[in-house]
Amino acid sequence: MTNRRPELKQNGSSPQRRFDVVIVGAGFAGLYMLHRLRGMGFKARVLEAGTGVGGTWYWNRYPGARCDVESVQYSYQFSDALQQEWEWSERYAAQPELLRYANHVADRFDLRRDIQLNTRVNAAMFDDASASWVIESSDGARVAAAFCIMATGCLSSPNLPAFKGIAAFEGDHYHTGCWPHEGVDFTGKRVAIIGTGSSAVQSIPIIAAQAKHLTVFQRTPNYAVPAHNAPLDPEFVRRIKASYPELRARARKTMTGIDFDYSDALAMETSPQERQREYETRWQRGGLSFLGAYRDLMVDEEANDTAAAFVRGKIREKVRDPELAEALSPKNTIGCKRLCIDIGYYETFNRSNVTLVDVSETPIEEITPRGVKVAGRQCEADAIVFATGFDAMTGALLKVDIRGRGGLALREKWSAGPTTYLGVAMAGFPNLFTVTGPGSPSVLTNMLPTIEQHVEWISDTIAHMRARGFDRIEASAAAEDEWVSHVGELASRTLRYTCSSWYLGANIPGKPRVFMPYIGGFPRYVEKCNEVAARGYEGFVLS
Ligand code: NAP
Repeated sequence: MTNRRPELKQNGSSPQRRFDVVIVGAGFAGLYMLHRLRGMGFKARVLEAGTGVGGTWYWNRYPGARCDVESVQYSYQFSDALQQEWEWSERYAAQPELLRYANHVADRFDLRRDIQLNTRVNAAMFDDASASWVIESSDGARVAAAFCIMATGCLSSPNLPAFKGIAAFEGDHYHTGCWPHEGVDFTGKRVAIIGTGSSAVQSIPIIAAQAKHLTVFQRTPNYAVPAHNAPLDPEFVRRIKASYPELRARARKTMTGIDFDYSDALAMETSPQERQREYETRWQRGGLSFLGAYRDLMVDEEANDTAAAFVRGKIREKVRDPELAEALSPKNTIGCKRLCIDIGYYETFNRSNVTLVDVSETPIEEITPRGVKVAGRQCEADAIVFATGFDAMTGALLKVDIRGRGGLALREKWSAGPTTYLGVAMAGFPNLFTVTGPGSPSVLTNMLPTIEQHVEWISDTIAHMRARGFDRIEASAAAEDEWVSHVGELASRTLRYTCSSWYLGANIPGKPRVFMPYIGGFPRYVEKCNEVAARGYEGFVLS
């Protein structure tokens, strides 16, 4: 471990401004964090790299970008007035609508005056003497704050694999995670898309309908269940709005924080005919609740394969060419990687202007000036779309040079994988909090309620410190160790360990393989957080 304190760049022109709290990121987490802290009387400042608010929904503007959690649930509940007045137009909100929502929230709660846009945070350093953080942005400007809150998102650091030759490509190339604001017109173009995860599954049908030709480079086929997206029926919305408290309360009791129909039945104790009926019902309903059909699906391989086989059967029904259907059929555990929600994905491969290139055995060799080369053959392209995902959960945090007590670098601390206490705090990093950090349920749940729970817990903690006259809080190494073991132990009992997913960091070469999210479910996690607070912040040292 290096204990050398980094030199702070001096910035003579701008005197250091001091806040109670600096929040990094103006996505859904940063916006609510600012609102809540300000309401408690704290002086808070949000620093945001983008030119606007919205986080994920600001950056991911690729064609077809849409949330896979239903809009009436993927929304804030902290303000009943907000949830009553906002009108979602579709079952699954598309990116432009989600971005409008984020902007509406920023305006409605008058948040913009404390949000500094165009400000990418490069470094954050804890100063022991003053028990405060100095946060430095890429232009060298610095601000200081008693607390630093990283609201930087779980899937916000795009992964562009180091393909040889990218720089020499003569066409245009794009990453789904940082799509041009003005949009891209693929009309008449030969397009190559690399990747078949959620972003690709959503964008492929739309790009295929526009482009002259689309070539899809697939390394691992993915399971996708239909979204059955549709405009929302006003009567349905009225009923939801009239009973929001009940819906939210039911959601809080589920593993994912989503009001789903989770069955307690076991697939292996159900007859094949009954199972087929159940899968069919859920398939017709659409969405992520498909995996809620049986509670043994994520722990018993045989059970899991009954659901996987059902989806493979559907792919065979949808894709006319049997060889192509076989190539598009995943063989791994369903739900091990994030289940995709699709709108016409498999059917797109019936189009005459779409080609699938399997790169599972023969990886992409290089990007040439005119296209993508695999096994010595060049596929010519005018544009390449990298739908290659993210350095998930840790990427955005580690991009910032975060230095804790005694100059301890987070990059060093996490060199063998992320370690946190409850996914909100780290030993050696006093007064630093992470919203939906590794070790919390985050990406395995509906992000909005998970964000709200973290924001409320963190702000209550800061208020508790102010009320008791404490100026420093730090997770103890023992509590962190215990939490990390607990998170790992729970994960090892499930089938989620069995594939090369981003949950495990396996999509990034050299990244330690550690299952990052907390898999014990939202209710159990919330109970633990509440218990910690009720016991005077058990596992933390306050001084
Ligand atoms: P992803 O799921 O990580 O998919 C990345 C794709 O790129 C995979 O198919 C991967 O193949 C492929 N890939 C990566 N490196 C490659 C290489 N060197 N050569 C060939 N192929 C390569 O990323 P994503 O689709 O952006 O989705 C990430 C997560 O964001 C999702 O799981 C979901 O949680 C979230 N998301 C949600 C929505 C939604 O709400 N509907 C939409 C988009 C994203 P391998 O599988 O073989 O690694």
